[in-house]
Amino acid sequence: MRKVEGNEIRNIINTNICIILMILIVLILTIVYKYIMYKKEVQASLQTSVNVKELYNTTNREEAIIRKDENKKEKDIDSNTSDWELLLVNKNHKIPEGYSVELEEVEDGHQVDKRIAESLKQMLADARKEGLSPLICSSYRTNAKQQKLYNNKVKEYKRWGCSSEEAEELASYWVAIPGTGEHETGLAVDIVSRDYQILDEKQEQTDVQRWLIDNSYKYGFALRYPTDQKEITMINYEPWHYRYVGVDNATYMKEHDMCLEEYIEYLKQFEEGEYNEILI
Ligand SMILES: [Zn+2]
Repeated sequence: MRKVEGNEIRNIINTNICIILMILIVLILTIVYKYIMYKKEVQASLQTSVNVKELYNTTNREEAIIRKDENKKEKDIDSNTSDWELLLVNKNHKIPEGYSVELEEVEDGHQVDKRIAESLKQMLADARKEGLSPLICSSYRTNAKQQKLYNNKVKEYKRWGCSSEEAEELASYWVAIPGTGEHETGLAVDIVSRDYQILDEKQEQTDVQRWLIDNSYKYGFALRYPTDQKEITMINYEPWHYRYVGVDNATYMKEHDMCLEEYIEYLKQFEEGEYNEILI
C-alpha cells in the first residue's frame, strides 16, 4: 500500500514537473518570439532613421529646392526671411542666443507665443464648429523639457543596443535636439484628435487631421514636416505638428507645395548677397 502511494506521489511529482517544464518551454518560446519581434521593430525604426539620413545626404535635397524656384524671376510675396513668423529652427539652425518668448495660455494649460494665440484659438474653435474634436497635446516647451524628452528617446535607442553616439543621432530624427526644436519657440503646436491620441501614421487619417491639413493655412499654420519632404526637414513623420508662419506665408507654402526650408530658400534668392548661402 505504501509502495503504491509512493508511486502515486512520484507520478504526481513527475506530472507536475512535466507541466512546469511545458510552461517553461512555452514561456521561453514566447520570450524568444517577443525578442525577435522587438529586434525587428528596432531594426525597422533604425532603418527609417538611416533612410532619412541617407536622403538628406543625397542631392535630392538641393534638387528639390531648385525644382521649386527654377521658374521664378520675380518675388511674388511680400515677406522677408527676417520676419519673426519665419524664424527657421531645425537641426542646423539653433534658436538664436537669448531668444525670448512672451507666452499666452490657449487652453488646458497649453501656452504659445502670445502673437499666435488668437489664430490658434480661432482655428480650434472653427474646427469644433465643424463637429471635430481637436486636442493640443504639446505646445511651448522649455529647453529643460525638450532635453528630458530627447534624453528619454536616446535611452530607448540605447536599450535597443545602440552606442551612445548612434542613439543620439537616431533619436534626433524623432525628437529635436534641445535648442533646435520649434516647440521651444512657442510658435508650434502638436494637435491630435481627441478620439485618437496615438502619435502614429493613422493620425493622418483622422477627421481632425484631414481638416487641419486642408484649412490650417487660413489661420497661418503650416504642416511643418510633410512626409514627402523629410529629406529636407530631416524629421521622420509628424503629421500633427503645426507651425505658425502667418496667413500669407502659409497660403503661399500650401499653394506651391513648399516646406518651410524650401520657402525660406525661395525668399533668400531675392535678398541681396545671400542667395548662395546654404540654409538647410
Ligand atoms: Zn511637435
